[in-house]
Amino acid sequence: MKVKGLLIDIDGVLYVGDQPIQGGREAIEYLTENKYQFRFISNTTRKCRKTISGQLSAMGLDIPEESIFTPPRAAIAYMKSTGRDHFHLLTTGDVDQDFIDAGVRDDSEKTDFVIVGDAGEALTYRSLNTAFRLLIEGAELIALEKDRYWMTRNGLSLSAGPFVSALEFATGKQAIVMGKPSKSFFNLALRDMDLQPGEVAMIGDDIFTDVGGAQAAGITGILVRTGKFREDILQDSKVRPDAIIDSIARLQEIL
Ligand SMILES: [Mg+2]
Repeated sequence: MKVKGLLIDIDGVLYVGDQPIQGGREAIEYLTENKYQFRFISNTTRKCRKTISGQLSAMGLDIPEESIFTPPRAAIAYMKSTGRDHFHLLTTGDVDQDFIDAGVRDDSEKTDFVIVGDAGEALTYRSLNTAFRLLIEGAELIALEKDRYWMTRNGLSLSAGPFVSALEFATGKQAIVMGKPSKSFFNLALRDMDLQPGEVAMIGDDIFTDVGGAQAAGITGILVRTGKFREDILQDSKVRPDAIIDSIARLQEIL
């Protein structure tokens, strides 16, 4: 595989829950030693970048915040490009910190955007209805991601996608998706490496958003058999990964 750079998914590739995936650190060391460029590109919307970086550091992976791309980063860039930045956030965890750090405001008085991430237990009839009403009153819908599900310590769990779809159904509006598989999200990371799509491979555990999304953007798609990977989903999918490996530990064998 002739590539100069890698885009690496985090959840399901480097860890599941609080458990690191064996060989992850060695794979990153291999990339560094062999002068590959790499960035981390995650659809995680429950944690701010500082927390993700800290979590990786606790697993022995020293990854600077700047090399981590998450949907809030894309959403902030998008809002700034429109000149409007009043938003209502439907998320959980400390992901709001990314917005605070960027100096944009969560202001439900005058809402330009309703931003929906994987909000976990914060998703209630009430919170969804608040979002619904703001959308009906004119706000635009931003989906930080639209994944169907992800793998937690306790098993597969619903991601933001099903709830974004519910809001789209109720309002007749179409969400603007910030995370993978959005081409502009991949491009944000490519620009940062100064590489073209054909020079880069994406490695992830989601056959649709990681592999399919990357391929649609002209990037090589590598699927790992860790995290949310399921053999039956792979068999039924129209997406054909360019490579499939047992885990990130085997990455160097295919580069
Ligand atoms: Mg993943």
